[in-house]
Amino acid sequence: MSSNHIQRQRKFLQLTFQDYYIENADLVDIPAKLHNREFGMQLFSLTWRCDRKIIESDSGEQKEVGCGRSGTSYARILKCPFCDSKQLQITDWVRHLGFRTRDALLHELVQSAPHSVYHSAALYETPVARFMHEKNWRGAELIFDIDADHLDSKCTERHDSWICNDADCEESGMGPPPSDECPSCKGKSFSSRKWVCDDCLQDAKDNTLKLYDVFLSEDFGIDPEKIVLNYSGHRGYHVRVQDSKIFSLDSSARTEIVHYIEGTGFTTASFRSTVEQDDYKNPLVVISEKVPLPTSAVEKLSVPGWANRVSQAMVEFISDIDSYHGSERWVKVLKENKQEAIHGLKRTPPILSPRVKGIGDKFWQEISIRAVQSYGASIDGPVTYDLKRVIRLIGSINGKTGFKVNRLNREEIDSFNPFVDAIAFRGGTLKVHTLGGLVKIPAFKIDAEEYGPYGDEIVELPKPAALFLLCKGVANLE
Ligand SMILES: [Zn+2]
Ligand SMILES: [Zn+2]
Ligand SMILES: [Zn+2]
Repeated sequence: MSSNHIQRQRKFLQLTFQDYYIENADLVDIPAKLHNREFGMQLFSLTWRCDRKIIESDSGEQKEVGCGRSGTSYARILKCPFCDSKQLQITDWVRHLGFRTRDALLHELVQSAPHSVYHSAALYETPVARFMHEKNWRGAELIFDIDADHLDSKCTERHDSWICNDADCEESGMGPPPSDECPSCKGKSFSSRKWVCDDCLQDAKDNTLKLYDVFLSEDFGIDPEKIVLNYSGHRGYHVRVQDSKIFSLDSSARTEIVHYIEGTGFTTASFRSTVEQDDYKNPLVVISEKVPLPTSAVEKLSVPGWANRVSQAMVEFISDIDSYHGSERWVKVLKENKQEAIHGLKRTPPILSPRVKGIGDKFWQEISIRAVQSYGASIDGPVTYDLKRVIRLIGSINGKTGFKVNRLNREEIDSFNPFVDAIAFRGGTLKVHTLGGLVKIPAFKIDAEEYGPYGDEIVELPKPAALFLLCKGVANLE
């Protein structure tokens, strides 16, 4: 695509987003304590600065390069337009922004109409300071990112694809790129194209609901009024806990919360073998568990621990054992005795049925560990324990899709369908050139209408479908 073409397309997207911010100011969520938040924006335009510095040539001669000027550009820029120096600093990001009022933020959104806009989960005394230590951290919301990227959904084999980056190699395939080398040229560099569909978004939703219902509401006892939910505008959901009693939690307390929620580190469900009158003699008793409890958080939140969830997790795991791909020795026996095992675990108190022959305490222990891990909610850990993360502004547009970052309440999320409810732009059609030459662009649904798959072709599509392809970077404006 020519430089002019890139410029035209970026400007077009920016103006489209601008219309949204002009017309939908009321959808933009103004974070609490706005003046303590740092904002960052990824723009459709690039900012470049021509570095002025002294360099030493091969012959040892010193000379000055660069003119110190700066500017913005919609096209990729390789050298300074004033002095031809190639020593340029180029970025499409602006960071350390701050807004004192709602109007100031909304004004900036209309002015910049950014590709993406984020704000800190943290509160700072001086959010606009350039360096972290000057910002003065004053606490942070507890945030969770549940992204299909981390869920290994089966559909990725169907819709993600890769191509080999070697110029002379045309190798490509579906699913994630080869973990070692290209089967044709032995190259090790690949470009991958990730897609999103109802199935992986449903996986993300299921994990979000588990986090919300089981862990935050039940175990942590957090008031639902203090939990904010939103669709990320792309492949997942965000959950933010805005309870001032957790604002001061440090990174290690937040790490413990992550481990607890994921069920990682759970190493010992212990089973007390007792002989009882009836033939059921193996009560499941969680005597000790090694999931680190959020000890620093525990004074503020009373967390009951995994004890009363182990049997529930085991029932869920065993019910789904037919789709488990592990090669442990207990898998076959468990598959054959699925109903019996579940029956025992559903009793009060739960027991490990001795009728499941061939599975002793050691195996039950292994099963319980697997079960806890698969029961835990999959979240992107670093987002939660990094105290300086930024998170998308609710009500903004996600430039990777052109979808809205929707705020949702607990009732709304059940029936929420991103491919309908997050559509930001409707009306009219656009002609686009789809870039599915080597590997076709997978089919997708917008407003219940199915589009694609597309190869290398020119198609006229309804605006939301066309914008989705443009934002995903798999089509150009014709
Ligand atoms: Zn210059
Ligand atoms: Zn190759
Ligand atoms: Zn999918």
